[in-house]
Amino acid sequence: MIIAIDGPAASGKGTLARRLARHFGLPHLDTGLLYRATARALMEADRPLVDEMAAVAAARSLGLIDFDETVLRGREMGEAASVVAAIPDVRATLIETQRAFARRPEGAVLDGRDIGTVICPDADVKIFVTATARVRAQRRALELAGRGEPVDFEAVLADIIRRDDRDSSRGVAPLRAASDAVTLDTSVLDIDAAFRAALAVVESPKIARS
Ligand code: C5P
Repeated sequence: MIIAIDGPAASGKGTLARRLARHFGLPHLDTGLLYRATARALMEADRPLVDEMAAVAAARSLGLIDFDETVLRGREMGEAASVVAAIPDVRATLIETQRAFARRPEGAVLDGRDIGTVICPDADVKIFVTATARVRAQRRALELAGRGEPVDFEAVLADIIRRDDRDSSRGVAPLRAASDAVTLDTSVLDIDAAFRAALAVVESPKIARS
């Protein structure tokens, strides 16, 4: 079974994807890490994020292991990732890695922005996870505070809105729900309630029959 989870920044899609993967004993790929690691490689090489050739070379040399999440999850890295993610050749370079992961015999859970639309259009289950920008900013602010990063709520909210705009308006694989995705609004749901709702989608008779 392939489960595709998409949604905007801090919507809770990563947590849901991890919990669904654990529940069903499936491998999980957080595809945002690929874009974050690409951006990080450029920054380490002192290249501008809009340097397309360097970005493609960085994307090509990524492996799926050795992601230092403490660095990659930082606030500025999400922003940088969304800049490199708008480069069509970077996306093209990362497609096969993601599809190969999804082709594992037991299936997989992938989360990102274009899993249901581009990477796994035939996924068995597609969930588009969303929440209001303010709720997402509150979650992100809590997460950053937990990591010991300084938090300015209005700046975090502005980041989220800017990233939503960039991710939704890019020419290739923009952030949007697949036409056959179930939308799950987590604005008023805690993690457990959101997980139960996601599980209900996966186990719904329509999906179980297919
Ligand atoms: O999900 P996360 O916040 O880690 O993603 C970082 C950035 O990577 C996103 O803002 C988006 O621009 C990009 N991304 C993408 N497609 C994906 C996953 C992430 O464009 N499948």
